[in-house]
Amino acid sequence: MDVAICLFSSDLRLHDQPVLHAALRSATQVVPLFVVDTGVADAGFMVPNRAAFLADALADLDAGLRGRGGRLVIRTGDVVTETCRVAAETGAGEVHLAAGVSGYALRRERRLGTELTAAGRALVPPGAVLPSGPGKDHFAVFTPYFRRWQAEGLRSVLPAPRSVRVPAGVRSEDVPSAQVLCPDGTPSPALPAGGEQAGRRRFTAWQRSGLADYQDRQDDLPGDATSRLSSYLHFGCLSPVELVHKASARTDPGAEAFVRQLAWRDFHHQVLAARPDAASADYRTKGDRWRYDEAEVTAWKEGRTGYPVVDAGMRQLLHEGWLHNRARMLVASFLTKTLYVDWRVGARHFLDLLVDGDMANNQLNWQWVAGTGTDTRPNRVLNPLVQAKRFDPRGEYVRRWVPELSALAGAAVHQPWKLSGPERAAYDYPDPVVDLADGLLRFKRARGLE
Ligand code: FAD
Repeated sequence: MDVAICLFSSDLRLHDQPVLHAALRSATQVVPLFVVDTGVADAGFMVPNRAAFLADALADLDAGLRGRGGRLVIRTGDVVTETCRVAAETGAGEVHLAAGVSGYALRRERRLGTELTAAGRALVPPGAVLPSGPGKDHFAVFTPYFRRWQAEGLRSVLPAPRSVRVPAGVRSEDVPSAQVLCPDGTPSPALPAGGEQAGRRRFTAWQRSGLADYQDRQDDLPGDATSRLSSYLHFGCLSPVELVHKASARTDPGAEAFVRQLAWRDFHHQVLAARPDAASADYRTKGDRWRYDEAEVTAWKEGRTGYPVVDAGMRQLLHEGWLHNRARMLVASFLTKTLYVDWRVGARHFLDLLVDGDMANNQLNWQWVAGTGTDTRPNRVLNPLVQAKRFDPRGEYVRRWVPELSALAGAAVHQPWKLSGPERAAYDYPDPVVDLADGLLRFKRARGLE
C-alpha cells in the first residue's frame, strides 16, 4: 500500500495519535486530511468559540506536520465526498479515522465504509466493557462502569511520528481562520489558545500546580483549581490515554480523582454510542411537561436571575466559553429544576458557547442534572444558596463575576435581597426571578413527589 489517508476529526494532535500511527504503518505516503465539514455548520454546531479554538488547533497541527516534512491538507464540504475525492486524486487505498459516538459520526462512518481505528476519542472505547446480563449494551450507572473501566488494560502511549511523507501535488485550501469557519457572531473575549502545543503546556503546568490537591479542590469555585483541559480533550489536542499514563505514574490521591473524572467522559460516550437518540430525547423519561418563560430564560442566559452564584456562572460562561463543573451543575439545576425549563434549552445554550461543547458530555450531563439521565437520584435539587455557601463560602467567585455586588463583603454577597431597603437600592442588581421554595414545590408537584 503506497498512499493512505489519515482523516483527522476530533483528534488534532501528533502525540499518541492512533489514526496517524496506523496510516503511517500501512503506507509509505500519507495524506493528513481535515475536512471542514459543512454539515456541522449547517446543523448550527460551528459556533464562534469552538471555531476560534479549532482554527488554532488546525494551524498548530499544520505547523507540527510541516516540522516533520509534511503538511495538513484542508478541504471544505461533505466529509465523505471530499475524502473520496482525495482518495481518487491520490490513489489512496485506505482511509484511517477514529470511531465516533454521535449519530452523526456513525452515519458518516457508515457512508465512508472504511476501516475504523478502534481507539476513538475515549480511553476505553464504547462497548469494550459491558454489564453482565442478556441484551445489555452499555452501563447506565457510573460506579459499576468505573470498576470495570479501571480493570481494563490501557494501551501504551504512541510516539509522535518523526516524519510524514505527503504525496506531491495534493491540492489544499489554506488553514481556515475562525472567521472563515464561522463568519457570524463574535467569540467570547477570554478564550483559551487552541492546539496541541497549548494543551501540552497547560497539562505540564497543571501537573506541577494543581494535580496533587485535585481531590480536595475540584469543587472550589473561586480556587479555579481544575485542569481546564476539557477543550483540548474535546478536540483531541491531548490524548486521554497519555494523560492517564502520566497521572497514574504518581501516587497522590489527586491523580486518582483526576483519572476518575476522565472515566466520566468515557461513561457518557458509551451511553451515547448505545443510545444516540439521547442527544435529544430523554434517556429515561419522567413525563415532564416543562415550562418556558422567555423572560426567565433570558435572565438565566444573561446572568441576571437575582441569584448571584447562578449569575456568576452564567457570566463566566459568556466571557470564557468555559465553566467550572460545580457551576455547570448548579446553573443547570437552577434552570431545569428550580425554573422547571426543558434541559434541551440549557444544553443548546451551553453548546452555543462552550469551547468544550460536546454531544456526549454536554447532553448527558444536562440529562444527569435534569433527572432524565443516569443520575441514581434524579429528583435531587441543588439549592443555589446552599451550593454558594459550601463552594464559595467567602463570596469571592461571585464578586469576581458580578462586579456590581463587589462592595458586599463575605457571604453577604450571596443574598443581596436581605439588605435593608435603602442599602438594597444602591445595587443595580435584579431581584430573584423565582422564590426558591416556590420553585422546589412546583418541581416536586410536577414530578409527582408532593
Ligand atoms: P477537570 O475537573 O480537570 O476534569 C478532567 C477532565 O475530565 C475534563 O477535562 C473532562 O474531559 C473530564 N470530565 C470531568 N468531569 C466530567 C463530567 N462530569 N462528565 C464528563 N467528563 C468529565 N464536559 C465537556 O467536556 N463538554 C461539555 O459539553 C460538558 N457539558 C457539561 C454540561 C453540564 C450541565 C455539566 C454539569 C457538565 C458538563 N461537562 C462537560 C462536564 C464537566 O463540567 C467538564 O468536563 C469540566 O468542568 C471541564 O473542566 P476541566 O477540564 O477543568 O475538568
